[in-house]
Amino acid sequence: MTVLGEIIAGMIREDGPMAIDRYMSLCLGHPQHGYYITRDPLGAAGDFTTSPEISQVFGELIGVWVAQVWQSMGSPRRFALIELGPGRGTLMADILRVLAKVDACAKAAEVHLVETSPALRAAQQARVPQATWHHTLASLPALPSIIVANEFFDALPIRQFERRGHSVFERVVGLSGDRLELGLVPSPMEVRIRGEGVFEDQTIRAAVAREMADQVTRLGGAALVIDYGHARTALGDTLQAMYRHSHVAVTDRPGEADITSHVDFEALGRACLVENAVVAGLMTQGDFLNAMGLEARTEVLARSVTGDTRTQLVAASERLAHHDQMGHLFKVMAVTSAGLALPYPFGAR
Ligand code: SAH
Repeated sequence: MTVLGEIIAGMIREDGPMAIDRYMSLCLGHPQHGYYITRDPLGAAGDFTTSPEISQVFGELIGVWVAQVWQSMGSPRRFALIELGPGRGTLMADILRVLAKVDACAKAAEVHLVETSPALRAAQQARVPQATWHHTLASLPALPSIIVANEFFDALPIRQFERRGHSVFERVVGLSGDRLELGLVPSPMEVRIRGEGVFEDQTIRAAVAREMADQVTRLGGAALVIDYGHARTALGDTLQAMYRHSHVAVTDRPGEADITSHVDFEALGRACLVENAVVAGLMTQGDFLNAMGLEARTEVLARSVTGDTRTQLVAASERLAHHDQMGHLFKVMAVTSAGLALPYPFGAR
């Protein structure tokens, strides 16, 4: 068992089985042994990879989206360009490279990064040295804002409930001997679950989505949320742990494996509506990237390279947008302040 596993086992011996949200937040964010606290998990040598790490085209197209939204906001002379969970800073660096082509927009942008991981903050510092860092959204500046979040919400904790017959149970981490094991405890919570199966409660994610929407509605602007998940609230156990690009059991390597679950975009969108934001739409990543010009941009880049590099470039774009790869499971949601024109390509078809 990992060091963090021993610590969690000790907590369970003392206090009884642990809800999934507490387990997830310890695994990912424990101040000494948390997964994101101790390492840079991204890339071939890590545990998983993300769109901006797969191809620069991803961030470039989002850069075009940002420039377009800035213009529709009336080209403010100062605005906060905010990223939630910026990983290695690759996406922000790619966005900024595109913004540099729209001089007034680049000059107006103040970069703010919300990041808890010291290891990843160091990586971000190398790529985006001019940024200001925040631990939470609470300290973001009072400026018109454009917010981007790629694979951020999936890392925020969830709880899991299950209805069996007329009873509701909560899924928890308990002990079997010295081993961590998933189990069920009767739940006093009233969970409105229709049908039998696992219901994933997104309260923590919805609270952060509300803060995001509040920033945008109070100050003007828009947010773009990209993640894997479903458009409508649905039953299903999507909790997963990744270790060196393979799935492992969620109780296997606490602190050494990444733990995430699919994002319920309906729940996130509903939370944004509470703040009077406009949920401008939800698209699949494939439709979004294709509408933003994935093919044309890939072709332009491919012209300047040959051989393997060229093949890899084309394959990377396909991976981002193809239905059977990241194109369909990944969704893109746009949220804006009232009165802002619907940002392209949402509602364009
Ligand atoms: N957006 C990046 C990284 C995705 S990994 C990319 O696409 O490559 C998830 C990111 O969210 C990491 O940067 C991680 O450190 C950060 N993160 C996870 N939980 C967080 C929290 N509670 N608050 C702020 N950042 C968090």
